[in-house]
Amino acid sequence: MGTPGIAYLVGAGPGDPGLITVRGMNLLRTADVVVADRLGTDRLLAECRDGAEIIDAGKAPGRVALTQDQINAVLVEKVRAGWCVVRLKGGDPFVFGRGGEEVQALLREGLAVEVVPGITSAIGAPAYAGVPVTHRAVSTSFTVITGHEDPTKESEQTDWDALAKIPGTLVILMGMGRLAAICERLVAGGRPFDQPVAVVQWGTTERQRVVHGTLATIADDCARVGVGSPAVTVVGDVAGLPDLDWRTPRRPLDGRRIVVTRARAQASELRDRLEALGAEVIELPVIRIVPVVASPEIDAALDNLADYDDVILTSSNGVRCLFDQLSKRGLDARAFETATRIIAIGPGTADALAGSGVRADLVPERFIAEGILDALGREDLTGRRMLVARAREARDTLIEGLRERGATVDVVALYDTVTETPSANDIAAALDADTVTFTASSTVTSFMALIAPADRAKLAELRVVSIGPVTSETARTAGLTVHTEAAEHTIPGLLRAICSPTFFL
Ligand code: SAH
Repeated sequence: MGTPGIAYLVGAGPGDPGLITVRGMNLLRTADVVVADRLGTDRLLAECRDGAEIIDAGKAPGRVALTQDQINAVLVEKVRAGWCVVRLKGGDPFVFGRGGEEVQALLREGLAVEVVPGITSAIGAPAYAGVPVTHRAVSTSFTVITGHEDPTKESEQTDWDALAKIPGTLVILMGMGRLAAICERLVAGGRPFDQPVAVVQWGTTERQRVVHGTLATIADDCARVGVGSPAVTVVGDVAGLPDLDWRTPRRPLDGRRIVVTRARAQASELRDRLEALGAEVIELPVIRIVPVVASPEIDAALDNLADYDDVILTSSNGVRCLFDQLSKRGLDARAFETATRIIAIGPGTADALAGSGVRADLVPERFIAEGILDALGREDLTGRRMLVARAREARDTLIEGLRERGATVDVVALYDTVTETPSANDIAAALDADTVTFTASSTVTSFMALIAPADRAKLAELRVVSIGPVTSETARTAGLTVHTEAAEHTIPGLLRAICSPTFFL
């Protein structure tokens, strides 16, 4: 390499991957080498770039952890070799993380190192348990203590008597092995035996468990329900305050992990609405819209737009592509004759039309191809000139139906729907979710094409939501079970189906 490398000590936060800093995430995504602790970093490792070397420095169960000296040596070696190294540490690197020693080891070798602070579990875990470490008139200070002394030390450094006498909150990390003894020392030192205590295990993660008790009871309370390390113990009146349990689900989709398979360019509405309802959204765009640049059909149709009695649009993508084509010709909505009837397959398409200055004359009640035929009712279409502007690979039901009724139908393909190539990490994250949404048949087909045969079994764990009967049929044919189908085949209809009280039962 030649150029000197650099190490970044990055605080990963306590476990919720959303709690890493922006700077930490940016560095993680570009690092050549990532040396990770296990606690608090699991889900973040999915962010590493393909090809990054990931070194597990943590104590995986049944595995020997690297010693601190070995970690220091690896950091020095990798930086010296010219790599950009992220040393990913749970919580904050300098809170009981031995981050100080790692910085010293690097600087002593004359190597570059930067520190990116993180949210320590000492604050993050209590916060997610509804325990503020300070509270006006209740506690004006908090002290963070390790409950785990270095066993090779002669005498304890921690002065529990002094800590008992501080009036503020005590936050104890690594104390689960000695919880009963610690509580006794604090009571002996003068803390009331009935002072509230909260223990937060796996704080901020989906495995979070909280036990409330008092200095007299908490050790037994935890033993009874099997709560142990890793946990943060909060001692003080802040641990007993009412009306702070903000994490208990209140929004309909709290705690849900939902996959959005729409094309990225179109996913934002669904994503934003799902998030507003409390869901965690995993975007896995499985399709991409590729406009047809030019074709004889497009030329023929657009040069003679005013000749059509009816123009039918079957998707908002179709609308966008049509108006892009018009604008390429220096035209706009005025290219349609006022006598031309504009038919939109559903409200989404009608909205897209409205955005281009055209009011749809007809929107059928059922937003599928058959709905258009129904909406035209018994109308005699003999001799009517109709244009259907749509995706290249679309069902022919509508065209056939219109022709059977005497219309002369021109079909123009405005775009192709192609399968995206998401990363293996993104696919794995999607398979880990609890729900997957399909907003068109093409999303089903492309999604299924991306799932490796070995992963097919995982699909049975996913709840499947479909926007309408055509999409549902494609899903069933592909071997999926459709758990719910939107009654109204729109994004709001899809959301109503997901939020229906029975969907997650
Ligand atoms: N640097 C870390 C602490 C490392 S010491 C930080 O700032 O959070 C490891 C201890 O941190 C664990 O024994 C436990 O007490 C605590 N800890 C880390 N992550 C935790 C979590 N998600 N929930 C509860 N405690 C956690």
